[in-house]
Amino acid sequence: MKKFMKGLMATTMVFAMMTSLVGCGGGSEAEAPADTTDKLVMATNAAFPPYEYYEGEEIVGIDAEIAAAIAEKLGMEFEIEDMEFDAIIPAVTSGKASFGMAGMTVTEERMQSVDFSTSYAKGVQVVIVKEGSDITSVDDLFAEGASNIVGVQTGTTGDLYSTWDLEDAGLATVERFNKGGDAVLALTQDKVDCVVIDNEPAKEFVAANEGLVILDTEYAIEDYAICFAKDSELTAQVNGALEELIADGTVQAIIDKYISAE
Ligand code: GLN
Repeated sequence: MKKFMKGLMATTMVFAMMTSLVGCGGGSEAEAPADTTDKLVMATNAAFPPYEYYEGEEIVGIDAEIAAAIAEKLGMEFEIEDMEFDAIIPAVTSGKASFGMAGMTVTEERMQSVDFSTSYAKGVQVVIVKEGSDITSVDDLFAEGASNIVGVQTGTTGDLYSTWDLEDAGLATVERFNKGGDAVLALTQDKVDCVVIDNEPAKEFVAANEGLVILDTEYAIEDYAICFAKDSELTAQVNGALEELIADGTVQAIIDKYISAE
């Protein structure tokens, strides 16, 4: 009975407050609940160290920290949603996420469906092979009569380039995996001949697995940026905050924390 009374009182009080707000001549409607307008939801694939990966239960990494700094600057709540890489753009265009940040390369094709922020980092597509592999340079992948099995992460630029340049040209078969780490595992098990992937995760995967090397030659050099739904109102806000964090050195400090200069 006591509990019920308390509940009733609380309800009455809320009701009274609402009435008084309405009585004040509006303004209450303009203020939507904080959890819908003031929250930034970042869509990512947390299997891409050092940009986003799990440390225990928590998603950490360069992108996670930059995004958290952006949210702080904007005074917004922040949340990360982990999903497959190829689900990120659909999550953003459907409005389920505020933006996508996943070491994502700016490409012409993606620009058909999303807008990109200013670039905050460079990426390089590299090739991982087993030590002693017949593939000793990127050129070997393009050699006449080549017939390699190339491992990639589904929907990444490594996937796109290998498909267009190699598979479509009859020079390779592309094996697609949900995680870059799974492609690397397949390489250690001789199920694929090489893996085309971004250089920073490549370094981490090679360090974690014996007998793998990264070829010296680069496959492609790219820009990483945050993606937004086309014409989203958030773009200018988030991009403005990002540009300030680039200008004041915060972004570089975060990158340096995760990537030691060689
Ligand atoms: N940079 C690559 C791309 O945008 C890979 C990103 C990733 O796997 N998270 O496709």
